[in-house]
Amino acid sequence: MDLNFTPDELAFRAEIRQWVAENLPKDLSHKVFNSLRLSRDDMQRWAKILGAKGWLGYGWPKEFGGPGWTAVQKHLFEEECALAGAPRIMPFGPVMVAPVIMAFGTPAQQQRFLPGIASGEVWWSQGYSEPGSGSDLASLKCRAERQGNTYLVNGQKTWTTMGQYGEWIFCLVRTSTEGKPQTGISFLLIDMKSPGSTVRAIITLDGEHEVNEVFFDNVVVPAENLIGEENKGWTYAKHLLSHERTNIADVNRSKREL
Ligand SMILES: Cc1cc2nc3c(=O)[nH]c(=O)nc-3n(C[C@H](O)[C@H](O)[C@H](O)COP(=O)(O)OP(=O)(O)OC[C@H]3O[C@@H](n4cnc5c(N)ncnc54)[C@H](O)[C@@H]3O)c2cc1C
Repeated sequence: MDLNFTPDELAFRAEIRQWVAENLPKDLSHKVFNSLRLSRDDMQRWAKILGAKGWLGYGWPKEFGGPGWTAVQKHLFEEECALAGAPRIMPFGPVMVAPVIMAFGTPAQQQRFLPGIASGEVWWSQGYSEPGSGSDLASLKCRAERQGNTYLVNGQKTWTTMGQYGEWIFCLVRTSTEGKPQTGISFLLIDMKSPGSTVRAIITLDGEHEVNEVFFDNVVVPAENLIGEENKGWTYAKHLLSHERTNIADVNRSKREL
């Protein structure tokens, strides 16, 4: 087995390296290399630069406006960004919810949500964990009750990374208590500016504010924001995790630090 990069892959790496060198603002890489705090604006500035190039959704297939890169090309892109000191791409939109919307969303949902993710305009958060429902995620209790063309959502999420900036949150919600816990969960997209939705900071031991609690108190969500079928959310959640976990491993930044 030949593990060397092909001449084409090496040329691709050189192209990415040059583009990143020309487009990554120096004040951002200075912050990354010196472990200085990145603001929301810092993170979004880089996201929008990548978005304008069509590379924020660098793992996306061409049919959804992505570059359609191979696994090796994606790896080289991640490695070059990390080596250059680029801020981490916030994964909640482009890496997590987008693949779910592509695989299970309707064409209308794809047209509505994917452009704002691809451009870096809209900030997404992840609403999976709840107090008491972390490892045992299927026990989650945040309830979404169908009322005509809407869902009424009540409950709490926790550890919501960067939720203080969140504009939209994809949530696992309980829509049924029948049968196995996994079969009563749905995947709902919620506008965090909806009345009844509040975010409370969790300040960690290092004094930083990265994670949050999110509360839903009689939040009305249009039923058209349901992804796929009601009570099939566990399947979509697992699809998402297969994208999330490889991204969270952050191999390329770790290699840079080594
Ligand atoms: C920095 C950070 C950011 C996060 N961001 C998000 C986010 O944006 N959105 C989101 O939804 N979630 C987020 N999470 C939540 C994360 O996914 C959960 O922390 C994780 O699922 C573990 O759940 P828990 O913290 O409740 O721990 P628990 O499930 O309470 O586990 C505590 C300990 O008990 C062990 N344990 C649990 N069950 C068993 C068992 N049956 N047998 C033996 N040992 C067991 C675990 O291994 C662990 O060591 C974040 C977490 C962190 C730390």
